[in-house]
Amino acid sequence: MAECRVEKNLKRCNCSWEPCERKGICCECLAYHWSHRELPACFFPDDIEKTYNRSLEKFIEIYRNKK
Ligand code: SF4
Repeated sequence: MAECRVEKNLKRCNCSWEPCERKGICCECLAYHWSHRELPACFFPDDIEKTYNRSLEKFIEIYRNKK
């Protein structure tokens, strides 16, 4: 059985939303946001992450023209 790497995950988590019980538990974070047609904080640059707009539309807007 794979162990959850919460501590390791938290070191690279850029999410500024507090508190959140899913922080560091990436599988739950992804499932939660995807159920709302959103993506987790770490899919967004820090300045956008702070707006808490985690929508798929925002993600596409940001990365549409990036290589
Ligand atoms: S991205 Fe969302 S679910 Fe994930 S830690 Fe931040 S607030 Fe919680």
